[in-house]
Amino acid sequence: MLNIYYRDDMVPADVPGNYSKSPTKPRRFLEFLRGTPVWLHVALRDNFGPVTRDDLLTAHTPAYVDAFLTGQPRSLAESNDLRWSPEFRDSVLLTNGCLLAANTAAVDNPAQVTMAPVSGFHHAQPERGSGYCTFSGQVVAALKLYRERGLRGAWIDLDGHFGNSIEDSRAFAADLDVAIPRGCNVNATGSHVAYLADLEHKLHEIERRVLAGELAYVCMAHGADSHEWDQLGHQCTTAEWLQAADMVYEMLARCREVRPVAVTLALFGGYRDDHPESVLGLHAMDTAQCLKFLGGVELKYMAEVHARRS
Ligand SMILES: [Zn+2]
Repeated sequence: MLNIYYRDDMVPADVPGNYSKSPTKPRRFLEFLRGTPVWLHVALRDNFGPVTRDDLLTAHTPAYVDAFLTGQPRSLAESNDLRWSPEFRDSVLLTNGCLLAANTAAVDNPAQVTMAPVSGFHHAQPERGSGYCTFSGQVVAALKLYRERGLRGAWIDLDGHFGNSIEDSRAFAADLDVAIPRGCNVNATGSHVAYLADLEHKLHEIERRVLAGELAYVCMAHGADSHEWDQLGHQCTTAEWLQAADMVYEMLARCREVRPVAVTLALFGGYRDDHPESVLGLHAMDTAQCLKFLGGVELKYMAEVHARRS
């Protein structure tokens, strides 16, 4: 069973003029998932709230946090490249709360797998947003789990773009080096065969650390913009993209035979405007592969990923 953390009000209305449609992706993803065999294995959880100002201050400056909370100054409130509104602010506080809740629930009960169907964290910096990302929700959650419970974890970020928010926060929050040790923010580089080889190499290090008891949880965000037909991506064919998912979940399955390491999924990027269903289909297939390797449920589900019309 996959526990998906979701509240309708964490999704804002679509805002014309925003390039990124990721703010509405949680709702669109769940609607899509409802039409797949994955849905039979999903439980929805809505028992979470927004992150607080104090939570955000662990990873961001007061000037930036207050700019986003109030909308002023607007240039700083919109440094994420998305239009600010009170409704959008509230949705961002909830998507960060969603990730925190899913991550916390997974470490509380590692036998389950949790999912926060969210995006918009991994380019944020301590003093501003960037690239459709507002706050470093990954850092906020990791610092809370470490400071309150002494737990350390890893992020496997297979979005098409380098997840700089964790690395950019190390100087701001000194104990992040313990909460997410160096080498435990995995971003595969290169494309096609080289991408998979780089990922395999980096996953060995995560597996070693999990088996050594150094990591209590692993988060996996398989951004669909690492697919070759995404307009902001290029790295993987559909087969390679799915192979990357299998490599991660097979590694985690091996670990979980030895140690109860917690697993949380997130979505991250994916921008195709010619066929948005291909983005949702990739995310759904990733979820199905997770269920296969970590839940023992073989769904044999294949979504349609349409070739890009040039
Ligand atoms: Zn991306």
